Amino acid sequence: MTDLPVQFTERMKERLGEDFSAFSASYARPPLRGLRVNPLKISAEDFLLRAPFPLGERVPWEKNAYYQDADRPGGDVYHFAGLYYLQEPSAMCAAPLLGVKAGERVLDLCAAPGGKTTQLAADMGGTGVLVANEIDYGRAKILAQNTERLGITNCMVTSLPPRLLAEKLPEYFDKILVDAPCSGEGMFKKEPNAIPEWSMENVARCAARQREILDEAAILLAGGGKLVYSTCTFAEEEDEWQVEAFLARHPEFELLEMKKLLPHEVKGEGHFAALLRKNEGAKRDARLLPETKSRAVEGCLGELLALPAGLRLFEHRTPGVRAPRFFALPEEAPALSALRCGLELGEYDGKLFRPAHALAMAYGGRANRKLILSREEAKKYLHGETVETDLGHGWCVVCVEEFPLGWGKVTAGVAKNHLPKALRMIS
Ligand code: SAM
Repeated sequence: MTDLPVQFTERMKERLGEDFSAFSASYARPPLRGLRVNPLKISAEDFLLRAPFPLGERVPWEKNAYYQDADRPGGDVYHFAGLYYLQEPSAMCAAPLLGVKAGERVLDLCAAPGGKTTQLAADMGGTGVLVANEIDYGRAKILAQNTERLGITNCMVTSLPPRLLAEKLPEYFDKILVDAPCSGEGMFKKEPNAIPEWSMENVARCAARQREILDEAAILLAGGGKLVYSTCTFAEEEDEWQVEAFLARHPEFELLEMKKLLPHEVKGEGHFAALLRKNEGAKRDARLLPETKSRAVEGCLGELLALPAGLRLFEHRTPGVRAPRFFALPEEAPALSALRCGLELGEYDGKLFRPAHALAMAYGGRANRKLILSREEAKKYLHGETVETDLGHGWCVVCVEEFPLGWGKVTAGVAKNHLPKALRMIS
């Protein structure tokens, strides 16, 4: 049984009354874990037919997710291929509430490591623009890796303070998710480190920060747009009262729905989510990232794979780096400084084109040359080994069954491993 902070326990006792004993008993069972199938790569039904470990029942509030209790599901080959994302089940309730649709402008303001970003992207099906922002640069890099692993093509990953985003893109987004940093009362089982960090001072600090983030989100949202505010905590200061105070400061918003998942009432560790709508009003456009025309890059890409029609290139130069990187822009890509301005295609120094890992993960299924491996063979590739092949000289996409894992470059019957070192399997 987890040793919970005394003051937290007292507060929950007071709030829940006779339900407290059931709430408290929920801490005696192991944390619930979930797996969300990535429909950008495979349907939930098809994944069930080849799942390498048993899956439990469906998560009621997310159409592609199941409860699971596997040993190291993050170490499986299919995880490397981006067929699924591992996420605590109740945390899956917030993104569907936003009801994102194809072609919309969507912002995930506090996005790392990307659970909800990847969920939103699945509903957008590669259309519109999804800005996934994470203030912490190190965490933003992990977010970028997750969007790439899942083969997301329409996402810009940024690492900006919400205030700066609000200055640049007022009244721009159709939908915004604010999955705020919080005191994490729903994380006590999954991350016991959160227990000693808990205090009433921290609850107050989190509430103040959430208030600031929400006020910036209010500026970023277009008239008629929707906003979901969520936390993984139970403190009313950060949940119901935060929403109440926001509505008092922002009469242009109304509350449409509010959910509080508590661990003794649902199969999940607990989450809070509120859906708000902004009154009809202005929707502003933004300056967009300029398209780059490069026949040479288009030619190199065409030799590797059959890309979808209408791809718009964007050239990004990093100071001090000779070869510029090329991206495929989302439908609408606002001019923002970003870690990823859409899908990374590769770098081109004027002579040689080096394809990006993200390109293989998103469009590798359309490659002209594929090296198809079994699950066992794929493990060796994921460990960084070379692969013998009868393919001729040049780049190929290495796949486990039909699912891309990364690039290989063949010389004399051997595919050299081009999987980035940081993404390799380590055990
Ligand atoms: N949405 C993520 C997911 O589903 O994987 C989890 C987000 S986590 C609950 C909250 C995030 O907010 C953290 O990654 C944290 O670094 C970020 N954050 C902290 N302070 C922030 C601030 N002032 N503005 C925006 N984001 C902030």
